[in-house]
Amino acid sequence: MYLCTLKNNIFFVLICGLKKTMKAIVLFGAPGSGKGTHSALIAQEYNFLHLSTGDILRAEVASKSDLGKLVDGYISKGALVPDELIINILAKKIDENIDANGIILDGFPRTVTQAEALDEMLERRGKKIDVMVDINVAEKTLFDRLVLRGSISGRADDTPETIKKRLAVYREQTEPVKAHYKRTNRYFSADNNGSVEQCFEQIKGLI
Ligand code: ADP
Repeated sequence: MYLCTLKNNIFFVLICGLKKTMKAIVLFGAPGSGKGTHSALIAQEYNFLHLSTGDILRAEVASKSDLGKLVDGYISKGALVPDELIINILAKKIDENIDANGIILDGFPRTVTQAEALDEMLERRGKKIDVMVDINVAEKTLFDRLVLRGSISGRADDTPETIKKRLAVYREQTEPVKAHYKRTNRYFSADNNGSVEQCFEQIKGLI
């Protein structure tokens, strides 16, 4: 009887261990820190899905839908879109890609409310964020990189005034998110003041 129960338990543990588990990573950092660049590199290296909330929102704006018009009002001012709106958009994207090998979240969560909602959303689906990688870059470098990017890409929110606003919003509303991941031992940082390759080597070491 005892042996039988033991056998069943071992079988259960084996099945759970074999069940495909999706890796989920949050790539964190100020505007211009290189989240997009490194998300693309990670996606390629590990065959993970790259979900950028900035890209998702810009596609919505480009479609000229009512939601897009609403979103544009926030993005063009350098403000964050409301939590409830972006949380619902992200939950839908996660459900559409629940069988992915792994997911990199770029640009989400950006507030403590979003971080808490993300944990709950993933827990309900039997998943979790494994690590948060915080990409660090000096403030002056961030500003210069964004101004340069604006002159090349023509992104509407890469103008000096809006960049200053976005950096201030990051310090006030987004930086506190780090503490949420530190508390739960999922916080790691990488330095992106040097080359892309140097930073990517650090990130690979963490993943
Ligand atoms: P960056 O990190 O360089 O500022 P993103 O492309 O990630 O650029 O985001 C562009 C804009 O999209 C943000 O300034 C904000 O208005 C909006 N946005 C993106 N992600 C979120 C989010 N998680 N919550 C609220 N607003 C967001």
